Amino acid sequence: MKLYENIHTETIDAVIEKFKTSIKTGLSSKESESRANEYGLNELEEGKRKNPWKMLFEQFTETMVVILIIAAIISAFLGKEIETISILLIVILFAVLGFVQEYRAEKAMAALRKLAVPFVRVIRDGTVKEIAAKYLVPGDIIVMETGNIVPADVRIIETANLKIQEAALTGEADPIDKRAQAVIKPDAPLGDRVNMAYMGTVITLGRCKAVVVRTGMNTELGKIANMIQEVQKVRTPLQNRLDQLGKWLAIAGGLAALLVLLIGVVMGESFVDMFLVGISVAVAVIPEGLPAVLTITLALGSQRMLKRNALIRKLPAVETLGSVTVICSDKTGTLTENRMTVISIESAGIEIHDFPSKSQSYPHSIQLNLMIGTLCNDAELKICEQDGVTVIGEPTEAALVDAAVKAGLVKHDLELQLPRIGEIPIDSSRRRMSTIHQLKESIPLCSAYNLKSEYIMFMKGAVDSLIGLSSHIRTENGVEQITHEWVGRIRSAHDKMAEKGIRVLGFAYREIDILDQVQSMHHLEEQVVFVGMAGLMDPPREAVKSAVSKCTAAGIRPVMITGDYPLTAMAIAKKLGITDSAEFLTGEHLTKMSEDELLEKVRGVNVFARVAPQDKLRIVNSLQSQGEIVAMTGDGVNDSPALKKANIGVAMGITGTDVSKEASDMVLLDDNFATIVTAVEEGRGIFDNLIRFIKFSLGGNLGKVLVMLLAPILGVTIALNPMQLLWLNLLTDGLMGLGLGVEPSEEDNMNRPPRSTKDPILNRPAIIHVAWTGTLIGVIALGVIYFYFDPTQAEDTYWQTMLFATIGFTQIGHAFGLRSSSYFLFSPVSNKLFTVVTVLTLILQLSVIYVPFLDDFFSLVPLKTGDMLISILLGIVMLIAVRIEKILNLHKFKVRLLHSKLSEM
Ligand code: ATP
Repeated sequence: MKLYENIHTETIDAVIEKFKTSIKTGLSSKESESRANEYGLNELEEGKRKNPWKMLFEQFTETMVVILIIAAIISAFLGKEIETISILLIVILFAVLGFVQEYRAEKAMAALRKLAVPFVRVIRDGTVKEIAAKYLVPGDIIVMETGNIVPADVRIIETANLKIQEAALTGEADPIDKRAQAVIKPDAPLGDRVNMAYMGTVITLGRCKAVVVRTGMNTELGKIANMIQEVQKVRTPLQNRLDQLGKWLAIAGGLAALLVLLIGVVMGESFVDMFLVGISVAVAVIPEGLPAVLTITLALGSQRMLKRNALIRKLPAVETLGSVTVICSDKTGTLTENRMTVISIESAGIEIHDFPSKSQSYPHSIQLNLMIGTLCNDAELKICEQDGVTVIGEPTEAALVDAAVKAGLVKHDLELQLPRIGEIPIDSSRRRMSTIHQLKESIPLCSAYNLKSEYIMFMKGAVDSLIGLSSHIRTENGVEQITHEWVGRIRSAHDKMAEKGIRVLGFAYREIDILDQVQSMHHLEEQVVFVGMAGLMDPPREAVKSAVSKCTAAGIRPVMITGDYPLTAMAIAKKLGITDSAEFLTGEHLTKMSEDELLEKVRGVNVFARVAPQDKLRIVNSLQSQGEIVAMTGDGVNDSPALKKANIGVAMGITGTDVSKEASDMVLLDDNFATIVTAVEEGRGIFDNLIRFIKFSLGGNLGKVLVMLLAPILGVTIALNPMQLLWLNLLTDGLMGLGLGVEPSEEDNMNRPPRSTKDPILNRPAIIHVAWTGTLIGVIALGVIYFYFDPTQAEDTYWQTMLFATIGFTQIGHAFGLRSSSYFLFSPVSNKLFTVVTVLTLILQLSVIYVPFLDDFFSLVPLKTGDMLISILLGIVMLIAVRIEKILNLHKFKVRLLHSKLSEM
């Protein structure tokens, strides 16, 4: 089958015929398989993936490695073979370590990207299935609805109020009305082909069925894909700031190196030797493991988040999460279970509060409500022998269909007598939907109410939206003009339900004698007859209450932003602990408010109700202008701007539209608010680990530099030779540091306020830590020189081995001291990577001291057991010192927390 051009010029039948498919049953699985072989996957070719060889090569272009290579070349010229070989070995080790870390990070990210692929509903073998969009083939019949991103180029074959925004292709921002039946001129521009939909465009309203005509790189988007797919590798803000830190340290390293070189030369050492020492000192100062540790911590962190149902779409989100100060969340489905059930029905004069009631026989007025509820409804009822009755559709709608069945009103039976011939879909600003039905046969219920017109419109939606359109009300006495008194009675009954956290929907109808199909149907939505209301219960989610209190303890403000009625919203918010005040704001309030007034209000109000998606954007803006870091949830098409604007845009994995997912930084696979809090917790842990690594690395490096600079006071010009320095650096920064980068979170992680994004990476306590640990390592090392160095035995290097071993152990001790206090300090299982790298470091460290060939290489000699024990003991001293600092800090923190709690009381 060749790919046909100009499909927009053909009729639906001709297209179906050409693509050898069927609107009803779609393709068979066998046929779709063979077409998949012919056309390949429906994917845009990815920009070039990083080739592992290139990745390896890049390791050798890192500044530090380049410096080392230059040093190796110089030492080769100077005839220092052993130094040359060992520096080269170290270069290779550095490069391999960097490569492994980056490779793992890249793979982790690729796995995450795969998970973010959209799904589509396709008809195959006569049934509707959900498949990943990449498996679509030409000829597939697909079903799409509001919020979907069109997954391939398609010819539309059935529509209901379909509007598609094609800005991605045509630049035209206004959505285009699409019509299945149209046949278009061959040379019509893309934007005028109203019977087609193109990959990457967005369904902003309505539903449709369509046949796939082109996939992958053959689509219109595919043709321009090369232009747009230059996906930029985003660097996270933290990466940029760490680069900055790296630059400062490089300058510091250069200065220290120069100083060591000068001192050595002044003290009579050869320039050549001192040059190599200088380079090693420079290398020692710079935490070269940092970029790799950062990448891997972020990548592994996002994998850990995925295990807990938070899919990270943009890497910077991982670090921003740790700084979130406000979480704005939808209500339905995120804070509540989105498991709706009808629990009451009220009609003028008759109320049923324990629906479904035992008697199961309901008066006509109740039945009329249920009939409207089930017919003005897009949920589908499926009755099968094994599973009984199941309803597929949006939970509010499904609950109504289910309720009608319980009262003996089966949706598809009713549809035979009252077929739907038109509809005005729901949208978040109208908060109602209407359907138009033909009264084919009169059913008893219609006869009972004397409904005899040719057509009838049913309407369901928010009661406040319906009341404004109602001219009449149906009471026991028939249809009456709606009066103020009636409106008052409806509102008070409505509020009574809403105050209990119940969602209330109203029902109305209008008889229509002549239906002008050409005119827009919107004008029919007036002069309707109000019939009654149903109360739907949607219980709060189990884990949310504790997640909310965790948030509050962590200094994060939870805010509810919902389209639901204020009283319903407030009742749920109070149950979950989101607010304890009586204050809330509605979309209407927001419209009347100036930006300044909003700025003032937004500080204290935690519940926003009857809010339209565009209001969400204003709320985010307002919060952000006060310095808040905002996470915001959203699921609809119109939520995208707010999701993009928020610091963390959070989309719903289950109920969210493709468009909202595209706009988000993170997707909640379980739609659950508690998952956002978990992700914040992980985000904080990740940041802690980076700081842990930096403190460890800088403290150790400072220690080494101090020894190199101050040893001359004790008569030693070169305290550690280049190889020893580089080795220590590699083991500690490279291995132990990597292990520290994945420590589990601290216990008090969620008991402290969020870290400000404006704070420097190294805050005061961190700088103090680096200063004192560096000094302590320096002092211990100088002590070792003092006791072991004998100027009369210039050739003896025993003292140097002792110094080498001690610095190694103090750094290991430092790493242990910095471990998280949420587990037993020496637990081998709380962080398995740490255990592995510790064992490896110990083996390597002891090998270079005790294995004959190796120790020659490093100019080391075997240590006596007693001296080895002393150096281990000095490592333990370091560990204890760091632990004491931790305990003191925790104590200080608790006292501060107590003070702030007391002052709040
Ligand atoms: P959120 O998810 O933002 O917390 P929500 O799901 O409670 O909000 P929306 O879905 O925007 O809110 O619904 C807003 C209002 O629209 C509801 O309170 C209800 O009155 C009305 N509504 C919701 N679903 C339907 C429906 N299927 N048919 C008619 N009206 C509906």
